[in-house]
Amino acid sequence: MSASLATVSYIGAIILFILSLGGLSNPETSRRGNFYGMIGMTIAVLATIFGPRVSMAGIPWIIGAMAVGGTIGLYAARKVQMTQMPELVAIMHSMVGLAAALVGFANYIDPGAAYQLTSTEKSIHEIEIYLGILIGVVTFSGSIIAFGKLAGKIGGKPMLLPGRHLMNLAGLLVVIFFGWQFLHSESVSAGLVGLTVMTVIAFLFGIHMVMAIGGADMPVVVSMLNSYSGWAAAATGFMLNNDLLIVTGALVGSSGAILSYIMCRAMNRNFISVIAGGFGSGGGKPAAKGDGQPAGETVSISSAETAELLREAKNVIIVPGYGMAVAQAQHTVYEITKCLREKGVNVRFGIHPVAGRMPGHMNVLLAEAKVPYDIVMEMDEINADFPDTDVSMVIGANDIVNPAAQDDPTSPIAGMPVLEVWKAKTSIVMKRSMATGYAGVDNPLFYKENNRMLFGDAKKMLDEVLIALKS
Ligand code: NDP
Repeated sequence: MSASLATVSYIGAIILFILSLGGLSNPETSRRGNFYGMIGMTIAVLATIFGPRVSMAGIPWIIGAMAVGGTIGLYAARKVQMTQMPELVAIMHSMVGLAAALVGFANYIDPGAAYQLTSTEKSIHEIEIYLGILIGVVTFSGSIIAFGKLAGKIGGKPMLLPGRHLMNLAGLLVVIFFGWQFLHSESVSAGLVGLTVMTVIAFLFGIHMVMAIGGADMPVVVSMLNSYSGWAAAATGFMLNNDLLIVTGALVGSSGAILSYIMCRAMNRNFISVIAGGFGSGGGKPAAKGDGQPAGETVSISSAETAELLREAKNVIIVPGYGMAVAQAQHTVYEITKCLREKGVNVRFGIHPVAGRMPGHMNVLLAEAKVPYDIVMEMDEINADFPDTDVSMVIGANDIVNPAAQDDPTSPIAGMPVLEVWKAKTSIVMKRSMATGYAGVDNPLFYKENNRMLFGDAKKMLDEVLIALKS
């Protein structure tokens, strides 16, 4: 393939990536958005493999690597449960970071990479390598800890080391010092010393940054790491002199940063302190021992009684959460919605920006179950309507409907906006036990006078409610 054909293909791929991002901004067009992305990536990969910068001798190696990577990716994508998707995404971010770091080292060691560069160009190239490895390693170790936290392998409580901000600052100064040494090193082996020290510090910083996140603040970190992985890819693009990788990385980096900003605003968190790391306790003290223990009396309700309340209601708001995803109850939720709408009940959904375990988690599930988009509302669109609602039905949600976020300034989730389900005439919470949600804090909603608990697996209970509704 000639150089100009490769450039045209790259431009085509970039346009498709931009169209893809545009499509993904709306549930109705997201399928098309994904499709554009897939075509764009196919063009990008083919134009790179058969482009002028890959020799024929290298192609079998690339195809071999793609076969191994593709098989693992295909296996993981087919095997993964919807509820494990955030963990998979976190691991993939770590791979992007690792790749950026490895490319950086390879590029530095490879004597051909800086061949024929002027001394200024060589310095710029080395800055690209240093920054690329730095961002890549932070993304790598941070994403592995995020994976551990999301998968429940590492506790959700923040690890707050004494003097952590000072430690971060000292680490930054050491990184700058060794960066200066690296740029002025006489030989590759001397330069490798600076690179290695920086890599170790970046690795520890990534771990420290995510370990210090607690409460319900993980969603912001997941999208921050998404953004970091984009910048790591862009840095790789600079190192390899590949325009497509620079643009694609910048697209992921900036869209991830915008998403993080939107999530920060939605969760009432400070964007700057998120970037600096070590937040999550700023809104209150970390949960003390025993904070997650139930503290009050609850009133239970049966599925038949729930059906009765729903049938008599004029306005119903359903609030789905992580438990609906675990139980895979979305199809029954749709059936119940259809049944109630046929009876003239006004049913709508209230979606919290961080419901579930990844941005847009609930929207994806509801779209999969064919719930009409026009009754699925954002938190801000629907929160004022709870006082005029007869029944609010909480399906496997906990933190996102916790009034302590508003009432208790010492709560780890203090300041996080929540769906005010308790303002409805009756609220019904569907979950299996009194266990806490992701943030590990008790929920005073359960003990409110107008609240009822429908204990059991969400799918099983909703199936019973549906049968009772139809009888
Ligand atoms: P929560 O994790 O707060 O609560 C989910 C509830 O679902 C649990 O209390 C659990 O109670 C219940 N549950 C679990 N399985 C079932 C089941 N089979 N049937 C019925 N109920 C079930 O979820 P929310 O959606 O309310 O809040 C999301 C939380 O996750 C927030 O703290 C958010 O910050 C965090 N988070 C969000 C991310 C995102 O991007 N959206 C990313 C990372 C974290 P029980 O065990 O008693 O059934």
